[in-house]
Amino acid sequence: VARVVDVNKSFGTLQVLKNINLEIHKGEVVLLLGPSGSGKSTLLRTLNVLETIDSGEITISDELMGQRVTAKGLRPLRESRIAEQRRRTGMVFQQFNLFPNMTALENVAAGPIHVEGKSKREATAAAKELLAMVGLPDKGSNYPIHLSGGQQQRVAIARALAMRPDIMLFDEPTSALDPEMVKEVLETLVNLRRDGMTMIVVSHEMSFARAAADRVIFMDAGEIVEEASPADFFDNPKTERACKFLGQLV
Ligand code: ATP
Ligand code: MG
Repeated sequence: VARVVDVNKSFGTLQVLKNINLEIHKGEVVLLLGPSGSGKSTLLRTLNVLETIDSGEITISDELMGQRVTAKGLRPLRESRIAEQRRRTGMVFQQFNLFPNMTALENVAAGPIHVEGKSKREATAAAKELLAMVGLPDKGSNYPIHLSGGQQQRVAIARALAMRPDIMLFDEPTSALDPEMVKEVLETLVNLRRDGMTMIVVSHEMSFARAAADRVIFMDAGEIVEEASPADFFDNPKTERACKFLGQLV
């Protein structure tokens, strides 16, 4: 579903992504781990074209839909391609970023109406189904301020799903939530996985990691240092950097 080849990215003199190579298969749930500042968010943001890359290639869904930068320099990205890649990669942030002046239902329907040109009736019907799917069938008319953090995050997930993405990117979706709300959001992710959604998840929730991740990718200082099954990674990390990171988690 997604392929990242030899991707490099710097902010000024700081190289945040160093020759990243990555392949995500359909239906796979990949957990992205690493210390603060290791480049996890930046990697997700390049997949969603919130950041450009300096060199390398990103492909979504086996077409050259992403960015490609060769020795000749940046291949100009057409606006339509950027929009299409964003549609295919649904991003959910730590801060839910809902539109405060729209109800939950309007938040979910907004993309299909304004980006895809769907009719209001069609988009609203689909949005209702998505809200039911994330466990909020009765909250469609609530504004974000009248929803709990966990509910807001589930609306944000429904909003991303409304664009029918090929892959969902979650950047610490539960770290801004109170403990009792973490569970309902993680359950939503588990349901998505059961429905076959491909996902990359940045999360420090170890129970979720062990139960729901197919693969762990460990980053440190802009590099992919280790790739393993969750059981292998947590019980038998191979590098010193991974051991040190896991030691700090407990
Ligand atoms: P955390 O676990 O704290 O979220 P992270 O692994 O997501 O960390 P990134 O947010 O990807 O890390 O940041 C990687 C590095 O890039 C950090 O050193 C950060 O300060 C730097 N960085 C990120 N965005 C920018 C930016 N827009 N301009 C300059 N530096 C940036
Ligand atoms: Mg981050």
